[in-house]
Amino acid sequence: MHTTATLTEQLARTIRIIPDFPKPGISFKDITPVFFDPHLVRACAAALAAPFRSRGIHKVIGIESRGFLLGPLVAQELSCGFVLIRKKGKLPGQTHEVSYDLEYGSATIEAHHDALQPGDRVLIHDDLLATGGTAQAAARLCTQNGAVVSGFLFLVELESLAGRQRLEPIGCPVLSLISYRD
Ligand code: AMP
Repeated sequence: MHTTATLTEQLARTIRIIPDFPKPGISFKDITPVFFDPHLVRACAAALAAPFRSRGIHKVIGIESRGFLLGPLVAQELSCGFVLIRKKGKLPGQTHEVSYDLEYGSATIEAHHDALQPGDRVLIHDDLLATGGTAQAAARLCTQNGAVVSGFLFLVELESLAGRQRLEPIGCPVLSLISYRD
C-alpha cells in the first residue's frame, strides 16, 4: 500500500537523516521535525487512517515510544480506542506480555490485561518499520488475547531490512508513508 506523492515528498523534505546514530553504520531517521508542523501531522494521521475508515476498527495499538506520537491521532481519525504497548516493567497494572529475539538477546513487551478484548479488530502502529521484529511481537500479543490484527501502520519503512516480508504473511495490509532503501 502506498500513499500520495505529495505527502511522501513533504515527509522526505522533513524527516532528518542522522548518519551513525546511535552507533556507526546506522542511518537514523529522525521524525521529530514532522511534529513541528501541525498540518503535516494531521495529513499523516489521516493518510494512515484512510484505508481503514469503514473497517470497524476497535483499537489502534501504539508501540513504545514513538508509536505514541501519531497512534492516538490515528485512533481519533477512526473514532476508536488507543492502546499502549510498552517495554516490560513500565505499565502499572496487571499485564499480558510476549518476548521476542533481538540481534543480541531478547526483549519483552506488554499491554494491560484489560486493554484487548476477544474479537477486537486492531491496527498496530509504530513510527518506523525496520526488521519488523517489534511489530510482529506486538501482533502476537494481540492475537494471544483474541484480537484480530487488521493492519500495520508506519510512518517510515526501511526496505533493506525486509520487515514487510516478515509482516505480510500475517495476512493484513502493511502501510507506510515513506520508504528508504537503507
Ligand atoms: P524493528 O523491530 O527492527 O522493526 O525496529 C523498529 C523500531 O526500531 C522502531 O520503533 C524504530 O523507532 C527503531 N528504529 C530502528 N531502526 C531505526 C532507524 N534507522 N532510524 C530510526 N529508528 C529506528
